[in-house]
Amino acid sequence: MSGFPSSLDNLIDRFASLPGVGRKSAQRLAFHVLSLPDEEAFAFADAISEAKRSIHRCPVCQNLTDDEQCGICTSAKRDQSTICVVAQPRDVLSFERSREYNGVYHVLHGVLSPMNHVGPDDICIKELVSRVSAGGVSEVIMATNPDTEGDTTAMYLSRLLKPFEVKVTRLAY
Ligand code: ZN
Repeated sequence: MSGFPSSLDNLIDRFASLPGVGRKSAQRLAFHVLSLPDEEAFAFADAISEAKRSIHRCPVCQNLTDDEQCGICTSAKRDQSTICVVAQPRDVLSFERSREYNGVYHVLHGVLSPMNHVGPDDICIKELVSRVSAGGVSEVIMATNPDTEGDTTAMYLSRLLKPFEVKVTRLAY
């Protein structure tokens, strides 16, 4: 028993379930939310509902979008024959911000990690293979992180894509 009303306990539990938020921070956040004017607090809750309702994975590249397909996959200005493979949606953002890249992306939503029981079926690999096998792709650039899991994933994908007539490269860091 914390001595708090149960709805406050519930709010603290929700904050504490977020990555990197400990019990103390969760309490601080919960009290902060309670101290907000009604409209601000409700706008916060609405933003979560709205994002969850409208955002889904682009059926082509698996990046997050609130359109039917994402803006990059539907852009006539992008080279649809070059696919850059990244682990997370945030990697697309950093590519778009920092690099001169005009191709399209494929977001895996993870990397292979035997230690954490993440296998090929747990990330968006079959979506990439069916995309390449459908044709129209000339180059696939592996841009997973240059660490053990990123390298393993890139090597695994390179082998999978070997049967197709597509150039597979590893991004040089
Ligand atoms: Zn897309």
